[in-house]
Amino acid sequence: METFDYLIVGAGIVGLTTAWELKRRDPNTRILILEKEPRVGVHASGRNSGVLHSGIYYGADTLKAKVCATGAARMREFAAEHGIPCQRSGKVIVATNSKDLITIERLLKNARDNHIRAEKLDADTIRSIEPHAYPYEAGIYSPDTAVIDSLGVVEKLRDLLSSHGVTLRYGQNVTTVKPDTRVVELSGERIGYGFLFNCAGASADQVARPFGVGEHYALLPFKGLYYKLAPARDYLVKSSIYPVPDISLPFLGVHLTRVISGDVYVGPTAIPAFGRENYGVLSGLHIEESARIAWHLLQMYASNRQNFRHLVHAEMSKYLKSHFLQAAQKLVPEVQAADLLPSNKVGIRPQLVNIRERRLEMDFVLERTPHSLHVLNAISPAFTSSFAFAEMIVDQQEAPL
Ligand SMILES: Cc1cc2nc3c(=O)[nH]c(=O)nc-3n(C[C@H](O)[C@H](O)[C@H](O)COP(=O)(O)OP(=O)(O)OC[C@H]3O[C@@H](n4cnc5c(N)ncnc54)[C@H](O)[C@@H]3O)c2cc1C
Repeated sequence: METFDYLIVGAGIVGLTTAWELKRRDPNTRILILEKEPRVGVHASGRNSGVLHSGIYYGADTLKAKVCATGAARMREFAAEHGIPCQRSGKVIVATNSKDLITIERLLKNARDNHIRAEKLDADTIRSIEPHAYPYEAGIYSPDTAVIDSLGVVEKLRDLLSSHGVTLRYGQNVTTVKPDTRVVELSGERIGYGFLFNCAGASADQVARPFGVGEHYALLPFKGLYYKLAPARDYLVKSSIYPVPDISLPFLGVHLTRVISGDVYVGPTAIPAFGRENYGVLSGLHIEESARIAWHLLQMYASNRQNFRHLVHAEMSKYLKSHFLQAAQKLVPEVQAADLLPSNKVGIRPQLVNIRERRLEMDFVLERTPHSLHVLNAISPAFTSSFAFAEMIVDQQEAPL
């Protein structure tokens, strides 16, 4: 039986940067990455907005705040070193009502606490940066927000890891792990490991189950749909225009972003989905799983923590283009229905729900057993944060229990 020092489940950005960090600490370590898809970047890491966030959204006591800004800086350095397109284009966050002005103060406090550059600007100054944005009185300018070719990053990491002796195997759906003996059973083969990192994104809860980990969590998928702004109208957006988010929720709201290719995308939504890979209308649905998701959604709806009902109503309505348009027009009133072109860009955010407290988990969640570590809520900004997050992950593995 072949044995590795480390087994990593999942070749998304979290699994790949974890392998990168392990190799950085010990170049001789033997690492196996098992990925169920035929290539890297099939799920969230290849389907996101490609924005390197500054970290302004997260309170200083969160794991997100600890790794976001550092991770973004490390990602920019990685991109520069390896010729991956990345541009520090900045973004504006615009208030759309008086309530947003209060949240703006909270975001600015986060920026101060987390040592992030951010400036409060009046509406006219915001419009000197984004002439077609329409702020209610004020907004924030974040000069360090960047856009990046996220698929380019995961593909480059894949190549570098392979050249450094990391074994990557595709088409390997890890379903049978024996934590007691530290063996994973694949079709007709058994592989031993010293320590397992569960970086399985939307399936991390399933991979964690045999370890008795994360039992008071359930996973709810939320669908992120985008429209593309018609090229003839993309002068409406210079870089990125975001709303002020509801900070009791883990989603940032529909925004307009000039991505690294130069195209402008509008989105994403956070519409409750009924499957972990339910990218289309009916694709990726499995009756038993959909029923489980529906049950948890109902529980959340009934408890209405974090104003969950409002979230569901507001997001479901975005299936209608007219409602989606309204969200975009709050930021840039000149956007018209004809400017929003259908796009096949869609992602799923695998959002953890704390079943005991009936609330959406806002922060990353790491759970450890003696020989395994489980990354359970690698939601945004896990892409931005990944290089620094991987350091935290590997530190936790090395820390005594
Ligand atoms: C619409 C959208 C927009 C976003 N925008 C941003 C953004 O602008 N900036 C940002 O920082 N973050 C953003 N995010 C979040 C970011 O993309 C994710 O946090 C990050 O990609 C998570 O990485 P991951 O490696 O955990 O997950 P994934 O990329 O999903 O990787 C997990 C991998 O594990 C594999 N896997 C799963 N189960 C198994 C199994 N049993 N056996 C083997 N392999 C398995 C999967 O096939 C997959 O390749 C966005 C997310 C979405 C959905």
